[in-house]
Amino acid sequence: MRVAVVGAGLSGLAAARELTALGHQVVVVEKSRGLGGRLAARRAEGTVLDHGSRVVAAPPGSALRALIDGLDAPDRVELAAGVAFSAGATRLPKMMAEGLDVRLGVRLSALRAAGAGLELGDEQGNTHGVVDAVVLTAPAPQAADLLERSPEGGERVAALRAVAYAPAVMILLGVREDAAGAGEVMLPDGGPVAEVRREAVKGRPPREGISPLVARLGERESAELLDASDEDVLARALPALADAIGSGAAEPAWVQVKRWRYAVPAGPADPAAVNPPGVRIVVAGDTLTGAGFGGSDHHRVYDSGIAAARRVVA
Ligand SMILES: Cc1cc2nc3c(=O)[nH]c(=O)nc-3n(C[C@H](O)[C@H](O)[C@H](O)COP(=O)(O)OP(=O)(O)OC[C@H]3O[C@@H](n4cnc5c(N)ncnc54)[C@H](O)[C@@H]3O)c2cc1C
Repeated sequence: MRVAVVGAGLSGLAAARELTALGHQVVVVEKSRGLGGRLAARRAEGTVLDHGSRVVAAPPGSALRALIDGLDAPDRVELAAGVAFSAGATRLPKMMAEGLDVRLGVRLSALRAAGAGLELGDEQGNTHGVVDAVVLTAPAPQAADLLERSPEGGERVAALRAVAYAPAVMILLGVREDAAGAGEVMLPDGGPVAEVRREAVKGRPPREGISPLVARLGERESAELLDASDEDVLARALPALADAIGSGAAEPAWVQVKRWRYAVPAGPADPAAVNPPGVRIVVAGDTLTGAGFGGSDHHRVYDSGIAAARRVVA
């Protein structure tokens, strides 16, 4: 069977590995230039910062924990909330993608009927082959857009559109070590900053006395500033950061802003409405599990990819 997996995040790679293990022909199509989706890392000033999920929650006994235990990852770091990697959160998806056929930089915009199969169409009008089934792991609003341009839209689209996502504006910054606050995660009380994380706990020690930090703005502030300029974001965030962790944060050695329009879903979609019996396009990912900032849902997101793979071939 030929199966396309849309999205090279945790659930998509889980689905692709499972389908490959079951002997099927799989292609993973990903719109970004990198692997991992919301497991995301960025290089800055000689260090790596995780600007998506902070750690991967993989509790003992979960299938995700078994996978991680079986990978050769000497840079793995165990933290209270889960597993991190000093090389960055994309380390896990990179290892998961080994041996898979992943096409990066391809944003699918339609799944057209083509004989008995589904043709993968992109925004430029190109086609990327015909498959028998699709595992769709994009966040619910993007999954709805694609499903709408497929033979299987209808009420499933409405069920996906019902899932609201909270955005997240992230600030990546290097701060003098003596002004970088204390603790692994700092939760400022009130103000626009919801959380500040110290990246050094992931085996990324301060370079030249500059400590790498990642701050997340609160949900309301993120929604307000999602489309604002970096200057406007920093004008709001840096004074609050300085209040929260020390005056040095007002003048960081370097700073970057990163935005997630769809960071975490407010709640899971109705699984029966999203994936009714008999469909060839099966939705997976946190659309079905829910996920929250500081939550521990990664292993369930992973499981949703495995379940979708089995469903597609059943
Ligand atoms: C800042 C932040 C903090 C978080 N904190 C936590 C936490 O503490 N605990 C927790 O459990 N979860 C947390 N999450 C959520 C968690 O990261 C996600 O639930 C999980 O990574 C989702 O994996 P996924 O495979 O479902 O989706 P994704 O990782 O989003 O993968 C979907 C992929 O599909 C691709 N795609 C979308 N549309 C198309 C298209 N048309 N064509 C091709 N490709 C497409 C996307 O580029 C993406 O790579 C956080 C997320 C963010 C952003």
